[in-house]
Amino acid sequence: MRTVTVLGSTGSIGCSTVDLLEQARDQFRVRALVGGSNAAKLAEQAKSLKAELAVVADEKAFEELRTLLAGSGTEVACGRAAVIAAAGLPADWTMAAITGAAGLEPTLAAVKNGKSIALANKEALVCAGDVMLRAVADAGATLLPVDSEHNAIAQAMADKQADQVAKIILTASGGPFRKASLEEMEAATPAQALKHPTWSMGAKISIDSATMFNKGLEVIEAARIFGLTEDRIDVLVHPQSVVHGLVQYTDGSLIAQMGSADMRIPIAHTLAWPKRMATTSSHLDLAAFATLEFSAPDMVRFPALRLAREALRSGGAAPAILSAANEIAVEAFLKEQIGFLDIARVVEQTMTALGAPPADTLEAVLHWDAEARKAARSHTLALAA
Ligand code: NAD
Ligand code: MG
Repeated sequence: MRTVTVLGSTGSIGCSTVDLLEQARDQFRVRALVGGSNAAKLAEQAKSLKAELAVVADEKAFEELRTLLAGSGTEVACGRAAVIAAAGLPADWTMAAITGAAGLEPTLAAVKNGKSIALANKEALVCAGDVMLRAVADAGATLLPVDSEHNAIAQAMADKQADQVAKIILTASGGPFRKASLEEMEAATPAQALKHPTWSMGAKISIDSATMFNKGLEVIEAARIFGLTEDRIDVLVHPQSVVHGLVQYTDGSLIAQMGSADMRIPIAHTLAWPKRMATTSSHLDLAAFATLEFSAPDMVRFPALRLAREALRSGGAAPAILSAANEIAVEAFLKEQIGFLDIARVVEQTMTALGAPPADTLEAVLHWDAEARKAARSHTLALAA
């Protein structure tokens, strides 16, 4: 029996993970489930999987969790310190699926166990790349990418041939505004932006897909995971979301991973790694797709890609500043305080104001994360006025 912990179990990735664990109950013992504020969902998952511990970050949700799990045998706790402590309990496999920089410290706590970390929380790797990779190396942990593109590339990247990789290619669906005009994008509402054409995901990443900040964050994430410079990471718009990622070798061979747009497939790959496990996810029927299309992204309507590449090239705290400013701007857009195209404006203004100071410790990363949030909030207010 392998022990597992799920950080962010009540979210989109978390629920897909719980679904896979429910299909293979005899193989896993659940050490801890951690959620943000949805006590009812967390309690239901804890009961179903007989979790040893359930932690809710929001203290206001604790009473409900305690009542729901009374007599169930699952221990309960709440608050930020309890989240980090739960993440640090020994587990053979941990799913890191808390959204945003809030996931950084819990993910680092899990890394310190030196076991397998299934990494969905791309913002952690983007904002604290050096710190995370050093912690992984120090602890002897194994980082298994969950993000579908990175998981695809990991599957297509034959270990012994990593030095013969010419470039890697991340595919992007193009999001709901793939064909929209700038005027339409300027007037886009949260409801329109949340409507992703191919994937069903949490709110923050859905908006990131619409702006293409998601792909920008993924370029930085890929640079960290695969140790590649920015010029060797390409992005291709591929509206069918069938091909998730490709590796081009120096001899011209292009190896792709394909699958249904169902996150349970990459999650299962990390859960069973280095083996494979069966899933109930629909198997791809290529004949059902008349054509697979690929095109270069539009850098004018989607400035996020340019900004992310700039942040990656600048290094230091620039990616952390980009990611934190984007979190603030997405929140403000979802509250209808700023427009859709203002998201990239807030990020660019924050990046220009703060530059790329050094950030090689966790303290420095957290400092620049806080500074970026402060600056982004004031740019947001100025745009809202
Ligand atoms: P989500 O919003 O659906 O879920 C986030 C989870 O984190 C929830 O359980 C929430 O309660 C919890 N959480 C939020 N703040 C917390 C805090 N401060 N402390 C503890 N828990 C907290 O998001 P999601 O779509 O599942 O995405 C999770 C992560 O995975 C993100 O980083 C996202 O970029 C990445 N990701 C998601 C997908 C996808 O298909 N959904 C694909 C690739 C990568
Ligand atoms: Mg992705």
